[in-house]
Amino acid sequence: MSRRTEEIPLMSPAPGTSRSLIVHRYGTPGAGPKAYIHAALHADEWPSVLVVQKLIPMLDAASETGDILGEIVVLPYANPTGLAQRMGGHVTGRYDYDGSGNFNRNWPDLSEAAAEKLGGSLPKDPAEAIQVVRAALRDAAAELPRRTRNQEWRAILLGLSIDADYVLDLHCDSEATLHTYTNVRHKDLVEVLGADLGAPVNLLEVEAGGGAFDEANAKPWWTIGDFLDGGADLPAACFGVTVELRGQADVLEEYADADAAALFRFLQRRGVIGGDPGPLPALKNPVTMLDAVDLVRVPRSGIVGYHKEVGDLVSKGDVVATLYDPSAVDPVGARLDLLAGTDGIMFSRFSDKLVEPGENVAKIAGTESLSYRKAGALLED
Ligand SMILES: [Zn+2]
Repeated sequence: MSRRTEEIPLMSPAPGTSRSLIVHRYGTPGAGPKAYIHAALHADEWPSVLVVQKLIPMLDAASETGDILGEIVVLPYANPTGLAQRMGGHVTGRYDYDGSGNFNRNWPDLSEAAAEKLGGSLPKDPAEAIQVVRAALRDAAAELPRRTRNQEWRAILLGLSIDADYVLDLHCDSEATLHTYTNVRHKDLVEVLGADLGAPVNLLEVEAGGGAFDEANAKPWWTIGDFLDGGADLPAACFGVTVELRGQADVLEEYADADAAALFRFLQRRGVIGGDPGPLPALKNPVTMLDAVDLVRVPRSGIVGYHKEVGDLVSKGDVVATLYDPSAVDPVGARLDLLAGTDGIMFSRFSDKLVEPGENVAKIAGTESLSYRKAGALLED
């Protein structure tokens, strides 16, 4: 079956302005596992947009040869509102100008609403229980409020993704190596995805907090049981993962070709697409707990000069960057070295070199939990 493409209109923000989402659909709902993939939820993740442009022709070809075994839903851009938010010639991304905050925080938790639809209990048969929960989640998403543009947008995206087995939320960082975020329950799956992508860093959280999109899709599978008899036995049937496709400037043909091919192979390994993905490469490094990620912050404003590149191995106490204070009478004496708080891989740094107090200028994936990192509050705004 060929690809079906639809355009979903969004509320107009102003007279004379219209916005919409493009949705490409492959395969047959219910025929096999479902994957949902979108690019640029924060609107400013250009590498993810190019990767999806590379992935679509691959999916088209697989569709023409009958190799879509399950269902695939692809959005080439997730956030038209954010794409149109320019200030001073820059797409600012990340935050909605309507005041609702970070585009990837506070996604609705559908657990309780879905449990209510189930009448408090589940079928004994696990496969049947999964189907019933998926239907309840779909129904709960369909009833999300749509009074504002932001609410409508969230209801539409969750409505497309909530019943998927795999939710691949494609982002990028500021300057970074490839890395991923997912729940610790999905360690085995992210080891496969991370190996195919060649991601040096894959981060696991017990409870990230913040209500990110991946978590909104994955978490109901282990929280719906709080509202059901026997629900605690449900498998974690949705692998929600945030994939950070390097840094914002890493929009390169060769990266995008490789990343799209890796996502395609992952979908083959999971039975969403047919064909032989070939042997799985070795994972570059063991997965890391998110509470073992050191955030190197600055205490005051200034200009940051880096001594380490993304991907570098660092040791605790290494100087990763120096903060310069252009307002200091003694510029040399005012310099402040910024130190690694753990041994590990410096996988991310900040592209804006003029920083303000409290800004996080580097992330280091270590192996030991850090006392200042708290479960439930592990994501930056
Ligand atoms: Zn993002």
